This record gives sequence, C-alpha cells and structure tokens, in this order.
Amino acid sequence: MSIDRRHFLKGLAAGAASLGAGSIAGPVAARPAKALAPGAVGILYDATQCIGCKACEVACKAHNDLPPVENPALDQVYGVRGAWDGGDDLDSRTMNKIKAYPGLKTVEASRADAVLAESAAASDELSFVKRACMHCVDPNCVSACPVSAMTKDPQTGIVQYNPDACIGCRYCQIACPFNIPKFEYEKTFPQIVKCQLCTDRIAEGGIPACCEACPTGASLFGRVEDLRAEGHRRLAAEPGSRLEYPIHALDSADTKVGTVADYRPHIYGETETGGTQYMLMADVPFEKLGLPTLDNESSARLSETIQHTLYGGMVAPTLLLGGLVYAAYRNTRDERERADDGLGEGAGIDAPVTTNPKSASETKEGSRS
Ligand code: SF4
Ligand code: SF4
Ligand code: SF4
Repeated sequence: MSIDRRHFLKGLAAGAASLGAGSIAGPVAARPAKALAPGAVGILYDATQCIGCKACEVACKAHNDLPPVENPALDQVYGVRGAWDGGDDLDSRTMNKIKAYPGLKTVEASRADAVLAESAAASDELSFVKRACMHCVDPNCVSACPVSAMTKDPQTGIVQYNPDACIGCRYCQIACPFNIPKFEYEKTFPQIVKCQLCTDRIAEGGIPACCEACPTGASLFGRVEDLRAEGHRRLAAEPGSRLEYPIHALDSADTKVGTVADYRPHIYGETETGGTQYMLMADVPFEKLGLPTLDNESSARLSETIQHTLYGGMVAPTLLLGGLVYAAYRNTRDERERADDGLGEGAGIDAPVTTNPKSASETKEGSRS
C-alpha cells in the first residue's frame, strides 16, 4: 500500500477537522515562572571596579583543570605557545572570560554631568566585562536538554552539567540566550564546558575561585538577594562619592573604599530572561559589552507552555494519527475501486491487458493483409 502526498495532506486536513472542538482539550495554563531558589547564590560583577588583571580567568582555569589556549596573534608578538588568557572569548577550554572594549566611555561625552565629563575625558580607558554562565533562574538549557544532563540545584539554584548523562545533542548550546555552553569538538568524547559556579568549593564552605582571586571586589560572591541589595546600594550612591566595597564575598572582612561610578541604572540579570544568579553592573551600555537585550520572561517558560498545550490536549498526536488513518482508508478505497473495475492487483499501466483471443487473431490477420 502506498501513501501519496496528496492523500497524506488530505488525511492531515481530515484529521484536523475530525478533532473538532471536542478533541482539543481546554486551554492549558501557562507554566508558572520559576522563582529564585531558597538558598540561591551567585556573583555580582561590577565592571567599574574591574582592572582587567584576569586573575579570575587564571584561577578558574587552575581550579577546573583547563589548559591554556593558543592565540596566533599573541604567539607572534610574544613568542609564547598558548596562554592562560589566550582566547578571545569563551571556548571549550575557557569557562570565564574577561573581555576588554576600548573607547566606550566616549559615548557619554555629550552628557552634561561633571563627573561624567571626567570619565569621558579618560575615554581611552578600557571597559571590561566578565563572561560566564549566568545561572539563569529559569534556564533555557535545562528546559532544552532531553536527558536532564543540565539541571538546576533546587537549593542553590546553580545550573550544573552532568557529562555522564549528556548525549552530545548540543540543544543547550542552541537554547542558551547568552551563548555560553561550549562543546569540545576537538575531543573524541566531547563534553559541554560551562561555569558550574565552583559548586565543589561552595559545598565545602568556600567561595568560587574567581571571586577568591579577584583583588578588587569586582567579582563578588554572595546570596543572590543580598547581591541585588548590594547592587542597589551602589546605584543609589552619588556618582563621584566614596563608598565602601566588599572584596571576594559580601560577608568578607576584606573591604576597600572606592569612588562611585556613574552606573547604568540597572543590574543586568536582575530581570533579564526571568533573572540570573550571575549579575553585572557597568557604567557603559550593557549591549556594548556584548550582553544581549532580553525580555524579562524566560523563553523556556513560553516554549514549555506551548509544548504542554499541544501534548496536554493530545492535539499533535491525534492530528497525526487521524491523518494517517484517513490516508490509509483513501488508499485502500482506490484499490478496491480498481478491483471492482476489473483492474486487480498488478493491473497497473505496465500489466498486459487480457484480450479476446478471437479478436486478437482477427487483428493479426488484418495486419497481414
Ligand atoms: S546562561 Fe545559558 S548555560 Fe547558563 S544557565 Fe543560562 S541558559 Fe544555561
Ligand atoms: S565560579 Fe568557578 S567555574 Fe565559574 S567562572 Fe568563577 S572560577 Fe570559573
Ligand atoms: S574581575 Fe577581578 S580578577 Fe577578574 S579581571 Fe576584573 S579585577 Fe581582575
């Protein structure tokens, strides 16, 4: 039995019609947005306090046993084969990357503010940004992973990767709105590489390696709610005033007094894609630091709501089944009709047509004359 395209499409249409109002379940409620885990921990990175020393990058590599990265430009200039900060971006050997952007502060030159005028004058300064997994409150990577190799810790909210469960489909890479997970293409048995917020160190009462190594407090560890409050304390301070900044962790005894920058009036990650546990502050537009502009709602919530609506009402499977049944029916009906017309099985256009022997011989004779 064959199913041609025309019949299959008709079948699908018939299946859809057969569903009618009755077979479609009532509207499925949108999946609720995920809330911050009760013991959610994270990092607040303040770009205005970062000096670009990359101690955090090196500490991350050392702790996670990641090799240096070769960079042809560096190799040519300095004659070195591979450097701890060799790559230009996150890659399969780099979970934490400090990136430098020159000239961004000239953008602010037109703003009529004395403090800003000062920073605009110092426009040759580099603006830094630390890129790593954002540990989203409602992570797309977790939602997209078909085998739960990406999971979110219900207590700390840390998004963890389990290489033993991973099948290498890389759906997490595609789903991540921050382009964070990297894949070890260069290995025979590749894995996904991304920051795990130094879960092992935190479990032992420590803090992430990057925060411990950071000499300025630009990378600060703490509970997410406390870090948000710390961010708002900085936003509320007068630009140019002096403020006490904690170093390493919010509850650390190490502090410093620094000058308050003219912050962008937002903590990046407080709302983006439903919130993130790694958050950033800066005195230049976030999008100029390569951070995407995102909705406040996680697209994981939207996609799961659509999936649950379809499968909850059994619409898609019923539609497919209805189409196949109808196509099969149509096909067998055509065969039955052909059988009724005396064109049974094998009576296709290439099959010999049974003829009256007499008329055949008359035809032969006629052809001889
Ligand atoms: S930043 Fe990407 S990889 Fe990290 S938790 Fe969010 S979706 Fe997952
Ligand atoms: S938390 Fe740990 S794994 Fe993540 S960027 Fe910092 S040092 Fe690297
Ligand atoms: S975050 Fe801290 S350790 Fe990392 S580059 Fe900036 S100042 Fe250095």
